[in-house]
Amino acid sequence: MRIILLGPPGAGKGTQAVRLVERLGIPQLSTGDMLRAAVAAGTPVGVKAKAVMDRGELVSDDIVVGIIADRIEEADARKGFILDGFPRTVAQAEAFDAMLAEKGLKLDAVIEFKVNEHELVGRIVKRAEEAKARGEQVRKDDNPEVFKTRLDAYHSQTAPLSAYYEAKGMLKTVDGMRPIDEVTRAVREILER
Ligand code: AMP
Repeated sequence: MRIILLGPPGAGKGTQAVRLVERLGIPQLSTGDMLRAAVAAGTPVGVKAKAVMDRGELVSDDIVVGIIADRIEEADARKGFILDGFPRTVAQAEAFDAMLAEKGLKLDAVIEFKVNEHELVGRIVKRAEEAKARGEQVRKDDNPEVFKTRLDAYHSQTAPLSAYYEAKGMLKTVDGMRPIDEVTRAVREILER
């Protein structure tokens, strides 16, 4: 299966992606994780992306489209994948469609997590505190100031993807404010339909 998870930062895409990985046995492709790994490794992509990510803005379409094009070629992604955080602009969605068409592959579902945005900052702060408690490095962009920029980027650049996939008859929505297990169940029901 090839699945896209859509929704603002803190909506629960990553949490649900991990559960889908366990159930479906296909990898989670998180461009955010891949970019953070590139930053940590100091690769040319990481060097370019770091300041943009720290500000909460979007990395260029060329960079992320290139990362995904390479990643879906890897053996573990042949059976399918769960995209978490990609595409984030209409240009990325179009490039991704072209990529799939060229390979003769198709998308199975686009699932959007609907959330109450006033509660998202609280989730982000909690995520940062939990990471710290586990002794992990806290994401530089998981703080209320940068979060506002990330949410703005979501509204102006990513939210139009809902209409993009709706027009293709691909869009399904779930209530992302429900308890985690209920969201998991709702996602499963969509995929089993
Ligand atoms: P995330 O972990 O998905 O919240 O992503 C963290 C940051 O990585 C974002 O705020 C962007 O700076 C960058 N990023 C991740 N995915 C994308 C993407 N598809 N397009 C552009 N920038 C991205």
